[in-house]
Amino acid sequence: MSDRPLEIKDFAPRELRERFAELGLPRYRADQVATWVYRHGIEDPERMSDLPATLRARLGRDFRLRALEMVASRRAGDGTELLLLRAGDGALVETVVIPEERRTTLCVSTQVGCPLRCSFCATGALGFTRNLRTAEIVDQVLRARENLPEGRTLTNVVFMGMGEPLLNLPAVLEAIRILTDPRGLAFAPRRITVSTAGVVPRIGELLERTRVNLAVSLHATRDEVRDELVPLNRRFPLEVLLRTLEEHPEVGRRRPVFFEYTLMRGINDSDADAGRLVRILRRLPSKLNLIPMNPHPDAPYRPPEPERVEAFLARLAEARVTVTLRRPRGVDIDAACGQLALRSVRRRAAMPA
Ligand code: SAH
Repeated sequence: MSDRPLEIKDFAPRELRERFAELGLPRYRADQVATWVYRHGIEDPERMSDLPATLRARLGRDFRLRALEMVASRRAGDGTELLLLRAGDGALVETVVIPEERRTTLCVSTQVGCPLRCSFCATGALGFTRNLRTAEIVDQVLRARENLPEGRTLTNVVFMGMGEPLLNLPAVLEAIRILTDPRGLAFAPRRITVSTAGVVPRIGELLERTRVNLAVSLHATRDEVRDELVPLNRRFPLEVLLRTLEEHPEVGRRRPVFFEYTLMRGINDSDADAGRLVRILRRLPSKLNLIPMNPHPDAPYRPPEPERVEAFLARLAEARVTVTLRRPRGVDIDAACGQLALRSVRRRAAMPA
């Protein structure tokens, strides 16, 4: 026996069987536990009525079945909901539920803070605390699911919360296995998107080991600008990033790459930028998500005037690029892209009890 309790949600159903076998438990018991935890959302062993009492007692004693507790939640005017969750060591994690007409997307975090320090992103300003473990990524989905109003189900999961998923790839891959396993949370891989700022050496592994969508945070069309916005670009410049994507056999053979482009006034929003962007997008099967900068106190950038956004969009549409303008969601509660910085915690800390 290991000295640490086994965290059930660190293991995809198949691995959990092997762990159970190593502990002298029948493999099918692992499947029963996975069914309770993922299908029924039951984490109290005493309620797992098809398990023998001895195993229920052992689960309660030697295993952990819950990695995150809900601390608080806030709902924005547009229905977006920010959940603040606490890990066993007290670390705080934010996850965002984004209800739309025909789908409900969950935006999960992969790290506490982020080491990349992109100059426009509030999470970067927070600094980096630690990687989340698999169970802590999966539990964001379970806490969000429990908290949904009647009649809603989570349809999509995007790895676009706090942190850089490809700097925590082993935990992210295992979480994706649980999310997509029929005995796990049973999401279709095309309902899942992993976003990266461009950790070039890890992109291949994600593409080869999963069938999920890849999103790449581009934000600039020239290295001088991208070096400033995404400091990681100094290690993996644009041309290296684009060539890696272009030359990977999985890109092109299947779904397009989703490029994220945060529009910032006077920084990356000119017609010349739009022209260069078109040339980049034409190099590989891709789609573009344009996001006007969500302003926050930790960054000096602003969104362009609405007319500039329209003009930028028009240039892309003219070139027949597939582009979606993302409406900001949850801005009034700091839940929008790049605003996840545990601001709720800071505010609460500043408030008298
Ligand atoms: N580290 C990964 C995952 C985070 S995804 C990545 O960079 O892709 C969060 C997305 O929101 C990224 O595309 C990020 O660039 C974008 N973003 C960050 N700050 C933003 C802001 N203030 N306004 C709009 N988008 C922002």
